[in-house]
Amino acid sequence: MPAPTTPAPAVTVLGLGLMGYALADALLTAGHRVTVWNRTPAKADPLVARGATLATSVRDAIESSPLTISCVLDYDTQRTLLAPAAGALHGRTLVSLTNGSPAQARGTEAWAQALGATYLDGGIMAVPHQIATPEAFLLYSGAEDPFDQHRTTLAVLGTPHHLGTDVSLASLYDLALLSAMDMMFAGFFHAVAVATSHKETTATAFTEHLTAWLRSMIGMLPVMAADIDSSAPPVYAQSLDLVVAAARNMAEAAREAGVRPDHFDRTVTDLTHRITAGETEYTASAAVTHARIPTTG
Ligand code: NDP
Repeated sequence: MPAPTTPAPAVTVLGLGLMGYALADALLTAGHRVTVWNRTPAKADPLVARGATLATSVRDAIESSPLTISCVLDYDTQRTLLAPAAGALHGRTLVSLTNGSPAQARGTEAWAQALGATYLDGGIMAVPHQIATPEAFLLYSGAEDPFDQHRTTLAVLGTPHHLGTDVSLASLYDLALLSAMDMMFAGFFHAVAVATSHKETTATAFTEHLTAWLRSMIGMLPVMAADIDSSAPPVYAQSLDLVVAAARNMAEAAREAGVRPDHFDRTVTDLTHRITAGETEYTASAAVTHARIPTTG
C-alpha cells in the first residue's frame, strides 16, 4: 500500500491583480489549499471554480492559513489592508511580495514583529506568465526560520533565494535589478529611435543586431564585477579620452537623427571633468564610484 502523502499546507494570497492571481493559481495547481482575498472579489471567480476559498475579509483570509502572501499595488495599500486585521497575524508568517523600498521592508518587519508575527520581504523577478516556470526566481530576506519552514511552498512560485537576515536586502536587490532593466529598455528605445531615423531601417531588423551585441556585452559584466570587488589592477580598462570621443559621437549621431542627446552630452561633460581632474582610465570601479552621490564634509 502506498504511504499516505502529506497534503500541501494552506496558503493565503491577498491581492488578485495580474501577479497575485498568477501566484494563487500556481499554488492551487501545486495542490495547496488556497484562500484568497481581493478588493474586487469577482477576480477570484476562476480560482474559486478550481477549489480556492474566497474570504470575505482580510482577517478571515489571514486566519485561514499559517502563511499569508501579500501582493498588492504598493506598501501603503498593503498597510491599509492589513491594519484592521493585524491581530490575526500573531503566530503566523507574512510574506510581502508587494514591490517596496528597503525602508518599507524594515518598517513592515518591525510592525509584524511587534504583533508576534514572522515576516519575510520578497521581490518577484518574473512577470505573471513566468510564475511557476524555471524562468522565475524570487528574492527573500528576513529571518531564516520562516523561510526554511515555508521554502517548499515558496518554491512553487519560482526558485527562491534567501539573501540574508537583513530584511531590506530583497527589496534593495529587486530595485537595483529593476533599475538595470529600466535603463536597458531606455537604451533600447534610444537606439531604436536613432537607427529607425533612416528610412531603410526597421526596429525589427535593427533589433537582431542589438540583441546579438548585448548578448556578447553581457559576458563582460562578471569581469567588471570582479574588478570592482578587487584591489588588483583592473582587467577591464579603457582610456577616458577614447570613451569621451565615443560619447561625443553618440551624442552627434542622436542629434543628426533628431533624437535627444542629453544622456551622452552629460557623459561628455562628466568624463571631461574627470580628465581635467587628472584621471586617465575608464574602469568599472571608477564608474561605480562616480555613480554615487558625493558625500560632503
Ligand atoms: P495589478 O495592478 O494587476 O494589481 C494590483 C492589485 O492591488 C490588485 O489586487 C488590486 O485590487 C490591489 N489594489 C490596488 N489598489 C488597492 C486599494 N486601494 N485597496 C485594495 N487593493 C488595492 O498589479 P500586479 O498584480 O501586477 O502587481 C502587484 C504587485 O506585484 C506590485 O507591487 C508589483 O510591483 C509586483 N510585481 C508585479 C510584476 C508584474 O509583472 N505584474 C512583476 C514583479 C512584481 P483590485 O483587483 O481590486 O484592483
